[in-house]
Amino acid sequence: MNVRVLASGSKGNCIYIEGDHGALLVDAGLSAREILKRVETAGGTADRIEAVLVTHEHTDHIRGVDVLARRLGIPVIATRGTLSEYLDHRRVSRKPVESMACRYSEPLFLGDFVIEPFPTSHDAVEPCGFCIREYDLEVGCCTDTGQISPAMLERLKRCDALVLESNHCPDMLEKGPYPAYLKRRIRDAKRGHLSNIACAACLKSLADDLHAVTLAHLSEVNNRPEIALATATGDGGLGLFAGSIPVRVALQHVVTESMQV
Ligand SMILES: [Zn+2]
Ligand SMILES: [Zn+2]
Repeated sequence: MNVRVLASGSKGNCIYIEGDHGALLVDAGLSAREILKRVETAGGTADRIEAVLVTHEHTDHIRGVDVLARRLGIPVIATRGTLSEYLDHRRVSRKPVESMACRYSEPLFLGDFVIEPFPTSHDAVEPCGFCIREYDLEVGCCTDTGQISPAMLERLKRCDALVLESNHCPDMLEKGPYPAYLKRRIRDAKRGHLSNIACAACLKSLADDLHAVTLAHLSEVNNRPEIALATATGDGGLGLFAGSIPVRVALQHVVTESMQV
């Protein structure tokens, strides 16, 4: 699989995953037009996209879903909770859109892909991450989660590559301009976002099994790519493995270079 993060951060998220015979999108948080432009920049082809998987109903993950799903004639796949939020409250049009509900830990088969959602800890109705397998290789997409629970860690151990949230530097968040309630929300393990340090700890536990990593959903206010990268590859993270596991940083406005799985 060829994984390209088309956009990542609080202004919009989208991951393009290309397999041998088809492709998937994880989230569509930019306008459909911008996503299609970035798919092209990534060397992809829109008509290969078989579905758009949605992790949760926040705008930075669903902005383009409606138009994109109708324009490409593809289904929207999400948990029942996310789907009902999106269909009942967030849709921009009344025109029909095909949807398919998935459940935590139940694999879903789509072309050559096996898609398995797993629960994340976030302030959404029924948020999830996705493990996506083609043949015997698997990539895990895990953003918008306040923590990596032992169950999540166990599941991610089976992945060969990860797109993992590295949202904020705790020091920068502490000293930064956000109001106290927002800082609390971001730090909240049950409802917030994953810090660089928690991301690094997760990578440390998984280093043995990983071939490639892309850090994602970086805050433009409370983080910097070089700090996220240094934390992920430092002693609290990949450490000695850092030399043999390529680590990329996904950004808001640029298509990230390809991560081969
Ligand atoms: Zn988000
Ligand atoms: Zn979110």
